Amino acid sequence: MKKIRGIATSGGVAVGPLFLAEEKPDQIPLRAGKSAGEELRRVNQAREQAEEQLSALSAQTMERVGRECSMIFQIHIMMLEDDDYYDAICRIIQKQGACAEYAVWKAGRQFAAMFAGMEDEYMRARMADVEDIGKRMLHLLNPALGAMPRGPEKRAVVAAPFVTPSQVLAMDRSTVIAVLTQGGSRSSHSAILARALGIPAVTAIGVEYSQLKNEAAVIVDGFTGDVVIDPDEKTLSLYRGKKQLQSSREELEKLRGKPAQTLGGRRLHIYANIWKQSDLPIVLASDAEGIGLFRTESLYRDRTSLPGEEEQFAVYRSILEKMKGRPVTLRTASLGSHRQISCLAFAEEDNPAMGLRGIRYSLEHPDILETQLRAALRAALYGKLGLLLPMVTSEEEVRQARACLREAARALQAEGTPCRESVPLGVMIETPASAVIAGDLAKVADFFSIGTNTLTQYTLAADRSNPSLSTLYDFRHPAVLQLVREAVFAAKNAGIPVSVCGDAAADPLMLDFYLNLGVNALSVAPSSVLELRRVVREMH
Ligand code: PEP
Ligand code: MG
Repeated sequence: MKKIRGIATSGGVAVGPLFLAEEKPDQIPLRAGKSAGEELRRVNQAREQAEEQLSALSAQTMERVGRECSMIFQIHIMMLEDDDYYDAICRIIQKQGACAEYAVWKAGRQFAAMFAGMEDEYMRARMADVEDIGKRMLHLLNPALGAMPRGPEKRAVVAAPFVTPSQVLAMDRSTVIAVLTQGGSRSSHSAILARALGIPAVTAIGVEYSQLKNEAAVIVDGFTGDVVIDPDEKTLSLYRGKKQLQSSREELEKLRGKPAQTLGGRRLHIYANIWKQSDLPIVLASDAEGIGLFRTESLYRDRTSLPGEEEQFAVYRSILEKMKGRPVTLRTASLGSHRQISCLAFAEEDNPAMGLRGIRYSLEHPDILETQLRAALRAALYGKLGLLLPMVTSEEEVRQARACLREAARALQAEGTPCRESVPLGVMIETPASAVIAGDLAKVADFFSIGTNTLTQYTLAADRSNPSLSTLYDFRHPAVLQLVREAVFAAKNAGIPVSVCGDAAADPLMLDFYLNLGVNALSVAPSSVLELRRVVREMH
């Protein structure tokens, strides 16, 4: 038996044989084209055909799994139309006299390498999209290239070095019971699709793909990222039990409108995490009781200027209106050189993960914070809004942020702009320091939200995105659990609400721990909301 730990990207447990979706990477030799004109014509034709295919795929995806996923293929169209990508292909044809296939392959390699080298996890995840459009173009240029890997004939866990969004969408749900990949991340489009399609998935398994054996028995736990190869009988029966915790979609549908309350009457609120406004339809479809974490960084991404007050106000207001009085917790933008934000020039840092980020960055750039606070205070008139501060390590940071909030409200009122006088201000407990001084922070915060992702990373000094540390990066490590306990005790003592919003919130096996501590709410990916509600309702 071999236990490995990857990154959980799509919830659910699967037990079955491994199927290695062996895919020979396309290696296109440099061959001369007929003429530059002819090869460019072929590229243009393939590009047009690819766009038609992608439009059709986007429409189908909209029907099958909704707007968010359909946007993935709209993004692929935008990438195909990107001038830099197209110019790179043309240059290879013109300068090297290459055939269209080589130029498309080579430009794809260059762009994939560029994305793979990016600091920011979100941008790194775009590598699979570049691969995807490259394969599509290659296949259109020459049907022998870029073909989809063959799927299993009987029910199996598909393992692959990595999967593209198109490959996930093409998976046959009657045979593919889970997906294991060596490379990828939670924010990749392939992971988003796997979640929407309900396929359990674990990525970054930290084991060489070549070491995996076809037909080996495997357990995949898409809630925690645990993978067990050749499990013994005891482990198998443990997971069979956990698998029974899962239920069919029809069963889950029956839970709409029902509270997450144990048989003994203990109540837990289950909220959804979102990245962007376009996540709203899946949140509404998930019947979440609110939004426990809106990571607002997406507002700052892929643009050349900062989002203004009016733009942010419109986004927050629209989300609050759609949530119809259900709570929405907006995290102030967690900016810093650890994220790829093109509209901001960050100073070079030796160690961005421990750099000027989160609340530290906001307090150093009060103008950016002020714009966000003003927009939030105005939007707060349209629903139940709370603000959450990331990366807090001291009481002073909270005091300063509160002073900024007060000042923003005062200025709005002085101008006669309608707004709320104040909103609840919460602290993310995601640094070990914040957990250790949680008693002091609870005096200056209106609520706590425990970010187990960052908390695990800093407590265990294990980079959460480094696949070779994936066994070390364990949110069930006693040190992490102890810090969670301390934070919850401090919140209880001070009488303020406390929620958990990191990935550990979605693990059904952790529910007992949270309920016993008295955690008030969990905030998880929309796809996990009903599943957790069901498990809570069956507990005592
Ligand atoms: C966390 O750290 O648990 C969290 C929810 O925030 P993020 O994943 O954005 O760091
Ligand atoms: Mg965090």
